[in-house]
Amino acid sequence: MRDTELARDFHLTPVINVAGTMTYLGASIVVPEAIAAMQRILPEFVKMEELQRYASGVIAQLTGAEAGFITASSASAISMVVAGCLTKDNLLAVEKLPDDSLTRNEVLVQAGHLVSYGAPVEQAIRLTGAKCVSIGQATQCAPYHLENSINERTVAAVYVVSHHVVDHGQIPLSLFCQIAHARGVPVIVDAASEYDLQRFLREGADIVIYSGHKFLGGPTSGIVAGRKSLIRHAWLQNRGIARGMKVGKESICGAIAALQAWQTRDHHAVRERETNILRLWAEGLQDLPGIHVSLEADPTDNPLERCKVTVYPDRARTTAWDLSQALGAGTPSVIVRDHMAEKGYFYLDPCNLHHGQEVTVLKRIIEELNAALSGDKPAITRFEDRLMQRQQAALLWPD
Ligand SMILES: *Cc1c(COP(=O)(O)O)cnc(C)c1O
Repeated sequence: MRDTELARDFHLTPVINVAGTMTYLGASIVVPEAIAAMQRILPEFVKMEELQRYASGVIAQLTGAEAGFITASSASAISMVVAGCLTKDNLLAVEKLPDDSLTRNEVLVQAGHLVSYGAPVEQAIRLTGAKCVSIGQATQCAPYHLENSINERTVAAVYVVSHHVVDHGQIPLSLFCQIAHARGVPVIVDAASEYDLQRFLREGADIVIYSGHKFLGGPTSGIVAGRKSLIRHAWLQNRGIARGMKVGKESICGAIAALQAWQTRDHHAVRERETNILRLWAEGLQDLPGIHVSLEADPTDNPLERCKVTVYPDRARTTAWDLSQALGAGTPSVIVRDHMAEKGYFYLDPCNLHHGQEVTVLKRIIEELNAALSGDKPAITRFEDRLMQRQQAALLWPD
């Protein structure tokens, strides 16, 4: 059911996404169930409260939470939940945010969790007027850092689960919750990109946040689940700062349908398909000069692997970042997962491919490597130059 004519009408470059679920590429392939639900609701009126109440039931059933609702995104969910911790059920306080006269306004985050998912986690907290308090150091946050940072101004603690966070020296979630709860502080878990819909609540989280448009394959949306009082206080923010974070009826219905489809999805078959794709890539690339391939498990234990492609410039006559750049500049544009390119490798993520695209990916990589090998001089840019070019390019839109 793919409509390739739209891309032509809008003058869009066809994209093959082997980067993962990326906002800048339109997140993920939305599952047919969600597309159908969105189409069905669009011409209708609904009582939004009723629709969100239904969503709450579905979310509760899947996550084990008491309640939940659908937001515009995970980023807005973080802001709404933090705002709810500031205002509780005071409707006037909701309208006054951001309010710098609040005496209880501190949100604790481990320094190693203060990452960017395209924008800073910290900013989603500060948007509410709350003060984001970094605890510990990037590579080390101990129980005593958390214990001694909680005071009468503390309203919440945010815990981020992501491949972006520092992956060692942090407080494990269950202990983090134990320490926070002993002092009456709720724990908000940002699990935007995680598969497991129950684990974090089971480990003690009071609120957990997921993106609807990542592994779930829903439309752009967020899902909050957790303790009813906190959910209710977050919901009230629709009368305040969350007005500009409004989620439409179509996204709510799409997210609900994606959640329901997640329950019945044949996860085993999906994994098997991805494994076959990874094998194709590994076999097709392993003997190329200056290339090393291996399969790597997901760093936060999601049930998936990626193909790691290491590029040795002395033999390949190109670098991981030049190869990534060349693949992205082609037609179709093949976008690889290249946040580690400076280390000499990138990943191929098999989760967002339409049938047959894996073959094109392999073909394009081989083409670019051959071009680098047969070129007059090596296709090598200084990493520093690439970094500056990207930064400058960001400022030029819409030109
Ligand atoms: C993607 C992501 C976000 C942002 O999610 P959106 O739904 O796109 O706002 C937040 N936190 C983490 C850990 C993420 O991976």
